[in-house]
Amino acid sequence: MSSSPYNYSEKYSLPEYNYKSHPKASYEKNSFSIASLHFCKKAIIWIFSLKPRSLSRSTFGVAFGYFFYIFKFICLMYFIFSKLGFLGSSNKNKAATSNIGPNRESPEYKNIVQKIFTTSAIPQDSYLTGEINPPRNMSRVFAHVNEKMPREYWDWENTTLQFSDNSKYIVDEEVGRGKFSNVYKCKSPEYDFPLVMKVFKPERTKRIRREILILKNLKGGPNIIPLIDVIKDQEEGNPTLVFPYIDNNHWKKEYPTFDIHQIKKLIFELLKALQYCHSKGIMHRDVKPHNVCIDKNTREVWLIDWGLADFYHVGVKNNVRVASRYYKAPEQLVNYQLYDYSLDMWSLGVVLAGLIFRKEFFFKGDSDEDQLVKIMSVLGTDDLRDYIKDYEINLSLDIKKIIEDYEFEKLDWSIFINEENKRLATKEAVDLVDHLLRYDHQTRLTAEEAMAHPFFDEVRNL
Ligand code: AMP
Repeated sequence: MSSSPYNYSEKYSLPEYNYKSHPKASYEKNSFSIASLHFCKKAIIWIFSLKPRSLSRSTFGVAFGYFFYIFKFICLMYFIFSKLGFLGSSNKNKAATSNIGPNRESPEYKNIVQKIFTTSAIPQDSYLTGEINPPRNMSRVFAHVNEKMPREYWDWENTTLQFSDNSKYIVDEEVGRGKFSNVYKCKSPEYDFPLVMKVFKPERTKRIRREILILKNLKGGPNIIPLIDVIKDQEEGNPTLVFPYIDNNHWKKEYPTFDIHQIKKLIFELLKALQYCHSKGIMHRDVKPHNVCIDKNTREVWLIDWGLADFYHVGVKNNVRVASRYYKAPEQLVNYQLYDYSLDMWSLGVVLAGLIFRKEFFFKGDSDEDQLVKIMSVLGTDDLRDYIKDYEINLSLDIKKIIEDYEFEKLDWSIFINEENKRLATKEAVDLVDHLLRYDHQTRLTAEEAMAHPFFDEVRNL
């Protein structure tokens, strides 16, 4: 287990996977269905009502009747037990479902440890905490959080919007613009600190419900911008969210000035926010420098803009058209919809790579297809092909062609180290990047695992 002091996790204590509960789930249902149950019930009644003597009154007929009766009974029992998984091989997930936490002795465990730590110079079991051998379409951590919560926790489509009185707010200058909203500085006599109003553009009520529910669920979490109020703006009556104002510099100006200590602090604080939201069953899905506010005075870090965030449900397909292109994960670019929290870990890896190698955008594609090519040119094509095969991903013709046509070797990270960035691209920093920027999302470090990485030894207990 990790030495991380952050104890937000549910500690993977689920003895079995509960596939049933989400109504939108498109995963394969257990074949031992209600219909099979009915069939078994009927079959049992029939067998027990069958009288061996009724077949024939001769000795041979009675003996055959008994034999047939016992044979059918054995077949039926075999069918029932095999479906219930008591006969081993018929239940593929049995090994995974019957353990609490990873079985460190299993070949699967050893295999994945080997996969994750191939290039690591760091002791292996210091930071592996997630489920080690989950089914391919399932998150390694926090897979069942929302299943265990009441429906109101995640069912954002059926929430009702409630608005507070807006007359107490005095609107000031515009401080930012998003795709779906404008952000204005404001104040209120009720609060002795400045605020911002995020005023949504019209026709966005569906998204807003999700953002509000997520912000309410996450309120009070570390480094998560707290939602203060929900109102209607005074001019057009558009839904508006109120947050504390964070006086920050633009990241393009600030990041190039960071030393290694500041990089560690920033990434560690973001990991706290991600570990918290993942533990609450929520993926941010738009991690990028633009959505991080660092307070100029206090140096507090805030993860903002939860407009693309969503709830994670096992087996439920997600929209791949989220996040900003340069931070999009490979699974999005190859249209793998059963992604999970590890999507955020990719984006964070891209932010970290940009910081330590002093590149404004580490992967800068001109289009989604080109973004994939940029990633391939660093991580190589072979591992991507393996990933697609392992996860049985159906590719569009365009993507298929790209992956077939291009041939890249996996680059050694040292290629990116130069005179200018060598103080930042330390062995530990590069190792962490290497463990986040992986095609196979199940082998990326989770937020909790990343927090226990030696890169953060210096800042973990500050
Ligand atoms: P958003 O749509 O939430 O990404 O907000 C758009 C822009 O408004 C952000 O990129 C920030 O520049 C700015 N912004 C949002 N929230 C805040 C805040 N709490 N304090 C200061 N600026 C903010």
